[in-house]
Amino acid sequence: MNRPRQVAVVGGGWAGCAAAAKLAAAGIAVTLIEASADLGGRARRVELDFDGDRHVLDNGQHLLVGAYRAIARLLASLDVDIDAVVERRPFELRYPDGFRLQASGLPAPWHLATALLTARGLTWAERGSMARFLRALKATEWRLAADRDAAGWLADHGQSARLVARIWRPLGLAALNTPLQEASAQLLANVLRDSLGADRDASMLWLPRANLSALLPDAVERFVLARGGAVRRGTRATSIAADGDRFRLDLAGGDGAETLRADAVVYAAPPAQLGRVAAAFTPALHDVLATIARYAYEPICTVYLKYPEGADVPRGLVALRDDPVVRAYGQWAFDRGALDPANRGVASVVISAHGPHEDESMHALCEAVADQLRRQLGLPPPRAARVITEKRATLAARPGLQRPAQTTRVPGLVLAGDWTASEYPSTLEAAVRSGEAAASALLQ
Ligand SMILES: Cc1cc2nc3c(=O)[nH]c(=O)nc-3n(C[C@H](O)[C@H](O)[C@H](O)COP(=O)(O)OP(=O)(O)OC[C@H]3O[C@@H](n4cnc5c(N)ncnc54)[C@H](O)[C@@H]3O)c2cc1C
Repeated sequence: MNRPRQVAVVGGGWAGCAAAAKLAAAGIAVTLIEASADLGGRARRVELDFDGDRHVLDNGQHLLVGAYRAIARLLASLDVDIDAVVERRPFELRYPDGFRLQASGLPAPWHLATALLTARGLTWAERGSMARFLRALKATEWRLAADRDAAGWLADHGQSARLVARIWRPLGLAALNTPLQEASAQLLANVLRDSLGADRDASMLWLPRANLSALLPDAVERFVLARGGAVRRGTRATSIAADGDRFRLDLAGGDGAETLRADAVVYAAPPAQLGRVAAAFTPALHDVLATIARYAYEPICTVYLKYPEGADVPRGLVALRDDPVVRAYGQWAFDRGALDPANRGVASVVISAHGPHEDESMHALCEAVADQLRRQLGLPPPRAARVITEKRATLAARPGLQRPAQTTRVPGLVLAGDWTASEYPSTLEAAVRSGEAAASALLQ
């Protein structure tokens, strides 16, 4: 196929945005089509009302890490000042009861060695077994002979119940959004390789200061428009079909129905819609659609709590002790006010993966999380609270998870999204890398 001159990107999540930015930078005329009013997809801004106080927050609390190199490069290429949009902090796992694992400012591997030496709440034997585990992983280049469940893998490497409960389970849930018993050990090893196992910068935590649309997608929109491209928010692609050796896209939006023609298409919308939107290509997409049909998904729930003036929300992020038996569901708490003064008094609490919290009503869940923060962080009752549950937040990162390549058997139709091939679980970095890979395939 010749290098395309006009490309339609369907879906304005982080994958579609990354593809659009790369294509626009290469001088291609891009039309980015997004069904919602805002770009960002599963990582986008939302405005929430707390009994009359309006705050611009996100559809779900996100955390980035220094290992997200493609995102860092993309932000730099868009002239985004990274420190204005995220707060970079050395890796830290801090519980309110004093348990703490904190990387130092020293270069690798000393940043981690000092973390183990200065850890609070671990025996020397546990520090030793954690160090041996990481050394063994490094010696095998972070590759398992065969993928398996992360819980059994950690147990076989001598990780004690406390190491699992305090370190591996929270890190595994945050990275894979899948309970360790069901999660892929290889995907976890890949994440560890590029974060804790890499240099100090890679292990840094990036806490978003800006809302998630402002962090990257808004900058992509400005970039695409400045290069003569188009961004069609509030417009849904209802079908993609062949038009000679080009493509015809049917669009539905505020202005009614219309047709767009393009030399190539990046499909960066959800996998579950591909069969319907690209029905004209069903035979060629047979294997892709069969893979998609096998996907399982995991939810993520974010509870936002608005505290009265003077409440001492702990700065940064704090790991919480979750225990469904006592309705303590929260796993992490973030102080949104410290990250952006416009959100003073707002804490966000994350509950990853499926669990008994899903049986609670929204009101009961808010009350349970507020009570957990009262007991564990000493916070007063909040003035108001809101819950956002994303039922299909990520793919379930199970052992042997298969995801399709970005290229398809339809010349000129490429796929992007955290559900396409990646060595990472469904994350922002997987999405951005997939978008760039899809664009690169069209530029060859
Ligand atoms: C609550 C929550 C918390 C998370 N936390 C983290 C985290 O801490 N760190 C991390 O790295 N990742 C996290 N993730 C995962 C991360 O958000 C996703 O991996 C990433 O946003 C996926 O981007 P995407 O572009 O692949 O897909 P999406 O964001 O789903 O983008 C698809 C886009 O297509 C649009 N669309 C759908 N149909 C059409 C159509 N017919 N025409 C046009 N447009 C269409 C949708 O509106 C959407 O904008 C989290 C996800 C959630 C939901």
